Amino acid sequence: ETFRKEALAASAGEFAGEVSFAVKRIQLFRQVEWLSLVDGLTGVYRRNALDDKIAEEIKRAVAFRTTLGFMIVDIDHFKRVNDRYGHQFGDFVLKKVGLLLRSSVYETDFVGRYGGEEFGIILPRADFAGVLRKAEAIRTRIEGESFSQGFDTIKVTVSIGIAHFPRDGAAAAELISRADTALYKAKETGRNKVVDASQT
Ligand code: GH3
Ligand code: MG
Ligand code: MG
Repeated sequence: ETFRKEALAASAGEFAGEVSFAVKRIQLFRQVEWLSLVDGLTGVYRRNALDDKIAEEIKRAVAFRTTLGFMIVDIDHFKRVNDRYGHQFGDFVLKKVGLLLRSSVYETDFVGRYGGEEFGIILPRADFAGVLRKAEAIRTRIEGESFSQGFDTIKVTVSIGIAHFPRDGAAAAELISRADTALYKAKETGRNKVVDASQT
């Protein structure tokens, strides 16, 4: 009887060991997958991952006859930050902007790094007015933040270009290009600004 109990306990232990190994393997797999999707510095999606999301969300918007917003957020005069305070401070600013952006949108929205100091944000099911309001809220929030590291404290602003599906294009590339044109106009007309594709 005792023998049977011990054997049972031993095989249960073995089974638990196998399960925990399988769980670890799944966790490891998830971690690797996560690392390949997410930008190491800022914790937001990498460009490729964001591009996949846009294409996916456009398909979803077509299927469910809804809309989506897309914005590009670009830090103003970021080169100056690097030049004056060093690359490390620049990295710190990028990291914090990434965090601010993520905490400014819904969990169902997607934030990605779209190049050096540019971020892309996808807002599924958002209407024009909602996207514009959100962009303006992000712009003001970043304008109001101080970025401090060591003895240095600086202020940073961003310019934002917005495009909307299906109003501004039927494909991802078109939306991105319209948002980029809007961003360019925001830069050209003074920076620290939000410009909607309908204004270009
Ligand atoms: P604008 O207002 O027109 O956007 O000016 P800008 O200086 O922000 O734009 P520009 O494209 O001239 O410079 C972008 C800078 O971003 C240049 C590059 O050194 C910096 N940058 C890009 N990636 C990184 C990064 O990972 N870390 C740091 N520290 N800097 C980066
Ligand atoms: Mg910039
Ligand atoms: Mg840029």
